[in-house]
Amino acid sequence: MISQELVYERLRRLELIIDASNELKNVGIRATIEAGGDVDDIVTLMEHFGHETGEDIRMAMAGVFDDAYALQHIDISRQLTERNVMDNPFAIVRTHEEIRELMESLEHPSFTQIAFERLGLTDPIARQDFIDKLSNIFVDALTEGTSINDLTRRLMRATDYQRYQAKRIAQTETMRYANHARKVCADDIANTYGVRLNKRWYSALMETTRDPHRDADRQEVGKDEKFDVGGELLMYPLDPRGSPENTINCHCSHVYIVPRQTTQAVDDIRQKQSWISNNREEYRRLSQAYQARWKVASEEERQGLDFWQGINWRA
Ligand SMILES: [Zn+2]
Repeated sequence: MISQELVYERLRRLELIIDASNELKNVGIRATIEAGGDVDDIVTLMEHFGHETGEDIRMAMAGVFDDAYALQHIDISRQLTERNVMDNPFAIVRTHEEIRELMESLEHPSFTQIAFERLGLTDPIARQDFIDKLSNIFVDALTEGTSINDLTRRLMRATDYQRYQAKRIAQTETMRYANHARKVCADDIANTYGVRLNKRWYSALMETTRDPHRDADRQEVGKDEKFDVGGELLMYPLDPRGSPENTINCHCSHVYIVPRQTTQAVDDIRQKQSWISNNREEYRRLSQAYQARWKVASEEERQGLDFWQGINWRA
């Protein structure tokens, strides 16, 4: 059974990050009850209930990448500590420019496919203009910080969408960025320390949740594998490569799980961590160089990239 102190401690840490309101505390308490004492599930459930109780708690576009990244980082750190693998891995702090670049490199969201059909944009130049216009709105919103309502207004101005359409897109894209940020965080930790990670799908389990998404609840696969969601393979909920039917208006999320590591792996991870704490400046420089290489590498090349190549971390 999970202790009340642990829950409150956890809520306090969350507050620092997501600027919690009283509403969030109620959300946290509901999440705890629903989680049935499983501390692993609390953060995810809080996000779900946060969405239900007030979209502005978690759905605000402001800093959505930072928030989702930080929450995922706390969650993986806690699991690593609990499993005696290591304490507090360093978070790779990214500048707004870097976040902007990461977001711009995401493939065009699938909602635009529907938008073309609705707007009858068959001319490729008009299409590209439209895509660029929408992408800019999202990336601006993400890096400048704005609320869902403001984003909805910006979308309405740029398109001839009705409010409900614009809002649906704003919500879909916000959730997409949050899931993407979690993936980036997990990749950072796995690449830096050689930690093996799994990921678990959490269905929103709302009235409107699609059956395949309901069935996918708690499906667990390796970090680099894809979830099977109604026969379609998705990297994470709202995967930009997924079909519009399987992604638009999805409120599911996913979190990373630390499975048992081998003794050899734990030894390696600890040695790497101690190398990093003794060589922080060098580590920052190397991680920037690594990110730059990663950014331009193909999927295949990424498999071969090794952060630690050429570094003598076995002290
Ligand atoms: Zn879903």
